[in-house]
Amino acid sequence: MADSNFIDYVKILCRSGKGGAGSRHFHRAKYIPKGGPDGGDGGRGGHIILKGNRHLWTLLPLRYRRHVFATNGQSGGENRSTGKDGEDQIIEVPIGTTVFDAETGDFLCEVTEDGEEVKLLRGGKGGLGNWHFATATNRAPRYAQPGQPALEKAVVLELKLLGDVGLVGFPNAGKSTLLSAISAAKPKIADYPFTTMEPSLGIVEYRGDKSFVMADIPGIIEGASEGKGLGLRFLRHIERNAVLLFMVPADSADIKRDYEILLKEVREFNPELADKSRVLAISKSDMLDDELREEIAKELPDDVPTVFISAVTGQGITELKDLLWREINSEENKNNFTITHRKLDMRHRVQEEDEFIFDQPETEEEEDFADWNDEDWNEEFWDEESSVNG
Ligand code: GDP
Ligand code: MG
Repeated sequence: MADSNFIDYVKILCRSGKGGAGSRHFHRAKYIPKGGPDGGDGGRGGHIILKGNRHLWTLLPLRYRRHVFATNGQSGGENRSTGKDGEDQIIEVPIGTTVFDAETGDFLCEVTEDGEEVKLLRGGKGGLGNWHFATATNRAPRYAQPGQPALEKAVVLELKLLGDVGLVGFPNAGKSTLLSAISAAKPKIADYPFTTMEPSLGIVEYRGDKSFVMADIPGIIEGASEGKGLGLRFLRHIERNAVLLFMVPADSADIKRDYEILLKEVREFNPELADKSRVLAISKSDMLDDELREEIAKELPDDVPTVFISAVTGQGITELKDLLWREINSEENKNNFTITHRKLDMRHRVQEEDEFIFDQPETEEEEDFADWNDEDWNEEFWDEESSVNG
């Protein structure tokens, strides 16, 4: 996998921007010895936002961008001018990206739609300028709010490809051949095991105007759940698939046993995978004559719909697509296909009241300083004035 472009796991450090400080400026003009407070508010710090992009297939770009820092808000200025907001950082990710807290491993969110934005870290609010704090008894407050701090979080992004159908089979079963025969995807095909080192997706046209997505993943072998072969890590790509298409070649010594081994490995990886709809395809059926075929048909597992196919001659392919389509759209399956994150409001990117996964702490400062009353401000004021305005 070292030289592969397919990256499905990255850890990145994200940091939102600090809020700019409110200004403590005082208006100064000739002939007006003591101008009023006119310090403007600080700008907001930049947010960190994740955005789904259906044209991306890998997390590779993030491998070279380990730090994602938004910029800080600028300080407020004189004449009540507000500081510039920091720039948001929008991290574009492939659909199916799942986000975890790198420290705790907790699931945070997933991005499942094109254009969907998940707000990860809120930027710090800018501080209020001193003119907000002028009161009847304190007409020249030297206090201005500081901006809120930046938030920092290390997250792990994991890509789980989204497909309707996930292929499950031993190496050499003919999975990649099937995908290339029924979609435009061009996975590598050869008669040695583990040709497919990375998952690929293909769109399968169905009866003219319909289509579904099929995912080819590297073959699994007996003991994969204990780490044999490429292990089971690729199985996470079919966790979100609606239907699992098991594939056992016609020349297998024991089709039923092979199917059961596959099922066992899948179940060990994630027991919920075994609740998904399954279809079993006997691949390379062009190698069978009628007699052999009838013999095999007698000993097939009875808990799964089965179809004989050949990617080479096209035999059984229509029947297979019909079966898959039926399973993808079955009511039972739809209930199985849950999405855990809440829907986001797409009309405005970020609103003040939006929920961030990591939010700024509530500040009590506003209240604390509303009745701020420094008895000796007068003495200090003119001494400090130059530095305050500087
Ligand atoms: P994968 O490891 O499951 O992806 O298997 P591949 O698609 O790479 O195929 C493995 C070998 O089986 C290749 O040599 C293919 O040419 C061959 N093969 C695949 N499908 C068929 C088929 O329908 N009929 C025959 N006769 N051979 C096939
Ligand atoms: Mg393959």
